[in-house]
Amino acid sequence: MSVLWVLGAGQLGAMLKQAGTPLGLDVRPVDIESNDTLALGEQDIVTAEREEWPETVATKQLATHGNFVNLDTFPQLADRLTQKQWLDRLNLATAPWFPVEQDSTAELAYKTLGDRVLMKRRRGGYDGKGQYWLKEAEGTHIPDEWKGFAIAEQAINFDEEVSLVGVRGKNGETHFYPLTLNLHINGILYASISPLERLKPLQSKAETMLSTLMEALDYVGVMAMECFRIGDDLLINELAPRVHNSGHWTQAGAHVCQFENHVRAVTGLPLAPAVVKNQSMMVNLIGVDLDYQWLNIKGLELYWYKKEVRPGRKVGHLNFCSGDLSVLQEALSTLHLAEPYPEALSWLAKNLP
Ligand code: ATP
Ligand code: MG
Ligand code: MG
Repeated sequence: MSVLWVLGAGQLGAMLKQAGTPLGLDVRPVDIESNDTLALGEQDIVTAEREEWPETVATKQLATHGNFVNLDTFPQLADRLTQKQWLDRLNLATAPWFPVEQDSTAELAYKTLGDRVLMKRRRGGYDGKGQYWLKEAEGTHIPDEWKGFAIAEQAINFDEEVSLVGVRGKNGETHFYPLTLNLHINGILYASISPLERLKPLQSKAETMLSTLMEALDYVGVMAMECFRIGDDLLINELAPRVHNSGHWTQAGAHVCQFENHVRAVTGLPLAPAVVKNQSMMVNLIGVDLDYQWLNIKGLELYWYKKEVRPGRKVGHLNFCSGDLSVLQEALSTLHLAEPYPEALSWLAKNLP
């Protein structure tokens, strides 16, 4: 039987493997630093858990395989410059921006984008790393090492952040999970909640936006679209051509989760409609030590990534799903985590229906 290789062996790779196992699929995440010679079969399939990778012995073997799904899409979306160009070309709303070039100045940024401008490194940024604020009031300038390597984006005064996780099959069939409401603190996702009745009016608009993109890229698998909600409008913040942290709740809250749908899509198996079970929420564990006492909390499902705990590092997540909202509220009041978690937990409590 053919193997599904995953470029990258982090938590996303592990969860893809976990999702493929009941289907009888042989899913093998590959550490990008591995020097092993992989026994790649001609019929095997390759996918990735990350949008960008350095050239190593392992990634070279995988990226030259004929069945690497979406291979051409990754560089298009991994570079924020070409990602933004795709959005503009497809007329999809995104925060106003310009490429930061050698001759770009902060004055030009303030003139064209306003008095607060967020520079983002074109490559490699995640969890808000790779951002640099330009503030006119503070007379900030563009450091030389950002010139040619960043885009500049208008600061958006959004009402809240939402994301859409969708899957597209080889035949062009698509399915979308309900919009997820997300809380980022200091650029890192702390908590998600879905489905929410009040986001329903935005669902079809969001689906049309993500469909347009997936169609244009002839994309196969799960893709996530992060948006800012401003009133009834959605502005695309960024895209991720892979399974996404804001879709982790689907492990508990959907009949078929994002990981299984991705595995199904890239292996050409039938996709599952995004049918949800009940109210779900997710809490990321960031720089937090493992505590098995959490398992006493009703409705809680723990995913621990077995990574060394460091401040600001995602080391696990907690999923909750219940048709009884009091179970979810009780879980939030029982969970005791240090700063800034009180803010994240009360945000969840406030947003539960
Ligand atoms: P991720 O871990 O999601 O990949 P990232 O490092 O790629 O994060 P972004 O998603 O671009 O970065 O930004 C992180 C967060 O910073 C956003 O979720 C949002 O809270 C804030 N942010 C990003 N762009 C803007 C903007 N133009 N205006 C205001 N806030 C922004
Ligand atoms: Mg990102
Ligand atoms: Mg983001």
